[in-house]
Amino acid sequence: MTEFLIYSKRCLINDQLIECALHIKNDKIHSIHSGFYNDPNIPFLNYGNLIVMPGIIDSHVHINEPGRANWEGFDTATKAAAIGGITTLIEMPLNASPVTTNVKAFKLKQEASKDKLHVNCGFYGGIIPSNINDIEDLIKAGVFGIKGFLTHSGIDEFPNVSKTDLEATASILKQHNLPLLLHCELNDEHVPDVNNPKSYLDYLHSRPQHWETNAIDLAIDIQKRYDIKVHIVHLSASKGIERIKQRKQETNKLTVETCPHYLYFNAENIPDKSPIFKCAPPIREQSNNDNLWDFLIEDGFNFLASDHSPAPPERKQLESGDFFKAWGGISGLQFTLPIFFTEARKRGLAIEKLITLLTKNPAEFLGLENKKGALKVGFDADITIWDDSEEFTIYEDSIQHKHKATPYLNETVFGKVIHTFVNGVQVVENSKVKTLQQGKLLLKDR
Ligand SMILES: [Zn+2]
Repeated sequence: MTEFLIYSKRCLINDQLIECALHIKNDKIHSIHSGFYNDPNIPFLNYGNLIVMPGIIDSHVHINEPGRANWEGFDTATKAAAIGGITTLIEMPLNASPVTTNVKAFKLKQEASKDKLHVNCGFYGGIIPSNINDIEDLIKAGVFGIKGFLTHSGIDEFPNVSKTDLEATASILKQHNLPLLLHCELNDEHVPDVNNPKSYLDYLHSRPQHWETNAIDLAIDIQKRYDIKVHIVHLSASKGIERIKQRKQETNKLTVETCPHYLYFNAENIPDKSPIFKCAPPIREQSNNDNLWDFLIEDGFNFLASDHSPAPPERKQLESGDFFKAWGGISGLQFTLPIFFTEARKRGLAIEKLITLLTKNPAEFLGLENKKGALKVGFDADITIWDDSEEFTIYEDSIQHKHKATPYLNETVFGKVIHTFVNGVQVVENSKVKTLQQGKLLLKDR
């Protein structure tokens, strides 16, 4: 039996930072003692003034294994996650080969993750036009949601769905009360000609706001007519905010997330010939991103996620600088916390609120709120300990992702993860990996 005490002057309990000691027994939080507490018979980890909080739950990660392990893999991605204070992540269905659109492929993916999970990992299933009859089996096999695209996904084996496909699946999702996650861009021809494929503005204008708002309208329509849970992943277009706000006043079945790159970078500062910044939907102008921040501060976003979407450097077209040939996706889950925190402290978002958006709220979305996402008695001992006063620069040698190419390279940020515990075991000590393979494969309880 393992047993120890974690003490700090600032532990996040019931959305507040208070002095207390967490008594960990095996993989659970056994009890919580407020104020200073010590027991000479139990090992005592004194973390002074560091922030002790529930482990981050990243509900949007692309890992690419099996089949594209040269892009990213479970070993490297979950190591990076652990170093970044993420103790649970949910993996997307499109980047592995085969894509996760039936139970056979789902089993292959689970097999591929064996002995490589350094944090807890669950999965989404995918919806494509040809697999409507596989959705229920995927749900029964334990996926946490069903993800679909409304425009080309970048992966030919994962084609986008139409409104009709979604209508055909809605009753199954309703019956199982599982969320439909939608990449909300609906492409059309109303876009300017591309003059220079290496120009960021040409890329930005090729994926206009109305692609997002049209897709959001479709998503809301499906949500409303079938009364199902619909989740809008990675909102970038602030013109989408009003309609989302309106529908969210009527139901809690519509949810929305955004990601670090949309809140940290602005189009004005992205140089031409730098597809390292390419993602879809694109990073927009500062005025747009200020609106995203306002929406975040007024509790409009349900939670935040990394959308870690890595690719080999040659796929990112780093040499050619061609935005249109490059893979659209930003790699960086290891830096989710410091990137958000660095911007949050400038914008006046309270630390407690930021933590909630990274822990309790995604736990609720995933149906894990009775065991993860909070420091509570009986909950899983997934714990992240970090220093909000430490400033550091992101250098290549600290990056644990398979490929080091990330737009966060050389950024100087605030908030360093020092220790991470997964299922009651210290997996990261002093920002270095300590223990491997402590993650569990998570299947959604049916
Ligand atoms: Zn994604």
